[in-house]
Amino acid sequence: MSANAPTDRPSPKSWISAIAPYVPGKAADASGRPVIKLSANENPLGTSPAARAAFGPAGADLATYPDPGASRLREAIAAQYGLDPARVIYGTGSDELLHIAASAYAGPGDEIVYVRYGFSVYDIAARRVGAVPVVACDKDYGTDVDAILAAVTDKTRVVFVANPNNPTGTFSSRTEIARLHAALRADILLVIDQAYAEYLEAEQDDGALDLAMTAPNVLITRTFSKIYGLAAERIGWGYASAEIIETLHRIRAPFNLTTTAQAAAAAAIADVDWVEQSRAHNAKWRTFLCDEVTALGNFGLSFVPSSANFVLVLFEGALTAGQAFEGLMQAGYATRWLPGQGLPNALRITIGTEAHMRDIARLLREMAEG
Ligand SMILES: *Cc1c(COP(=O)(O)O)cnc(C)c1O
Repeated sequence: MSANAPTDRPSPKSWISAIAPYVPGKAADASGRPVIKLSANENPLGTSPAARAAFGPAGADLATYPDPGASRLREAIAAQYGLDPARVIYGTGSDELLHIAASAYAGPGDEIVYVRYGFSVYDIAARRVGAVPVVACDKDYGTDVDAILAAVTDKTRVVFVANPNNPTGTFSSRTEIARLHAALRADILLVIDQAYAEYLEAEQDDGALDLAMTAPNVLITRTFSKIYGLAAERIGWGYASAEIIETLHRIRAPFNLTTTAQAAAAAAIADVDWVEQSRAHNAKWRTFLCDEVTALGNFGLSFVPSSANFVLVLFEGALTAGQAFEGLMQAGYATRWLPGQGLPNALRITIGTEAHMRDIARLLREMAEG
């Protein structure tokens, strides 16, 4: 049958049928029993009290559309980072921004490049617009700038790099990001997804925001879902040249941020103490988890060095990642096992509270020692 022959039902575009749906982190075990969720990189400390206080009253008027220009939020973001508020874009999660970046700059036949073990949304964003996803090899689970550059062809329109990367936690230095940008053709949009940037140490600045301020082909994206503890409200933001931002506004959903989301996010970004407290908690318990995993090295456990709020733990001994995933689930903890992303030997574990991390360390030891 020819592709254009009439059928008895609507048929999706072939590139849509080829999409493997996004798999969210689990919040319940197979029987539906709720578990502690160390599977979605949420903030274990919760939401900033200032954001919570702003959220409540903002919900009073449900009949009126939200501010389509999100002006208060843009002003708050711009004030925090010394940016031009007119060049701040906002999305229903940074997911929306990743999708509209792909749709605005790539289409059928074009290519979108990202690294193996990159964020799973890049594959969906590329396929959704009929573009060809091109996967560059990793280097020790991290971003390999040379492999990305080698994957670029005349058809490349967009390059996605998450820094730090999810699910590996790896970080590319300012030098590496600058080298990537300098070697890319000027007509290729470089999207640097900084969902975990707030977890970095001050000296780890990858320079992406500076590039977005000055270069005509760089978009950075940020999210309120991770350190700000506002995942339920679906808020992301981005920064790029005036021209890119004007393009993205054409295709973002018209009232894409709810009134409560705008109010909560504007308060959250100004609460620098909460961010610092969350960052310090994360750094401390990430080190703890890594040390505990190192102590289980004889049993084949190791980890990929992480700059984010999770650790990719590798299982290369008698205890497999699949067994560890099941064992932790039985004990009431959901973690992320990613055989579908080519990581059958690894579990991504979000940094939780002190009690959760101590418990995870104990459970891993018990399982490893058999
Ligand atoms: C969590 C995450 C996002 C974004 O999520 P939103 O909730 O849609 O803002 C984007 N990129 C990466 C790499 C992530 O891990």
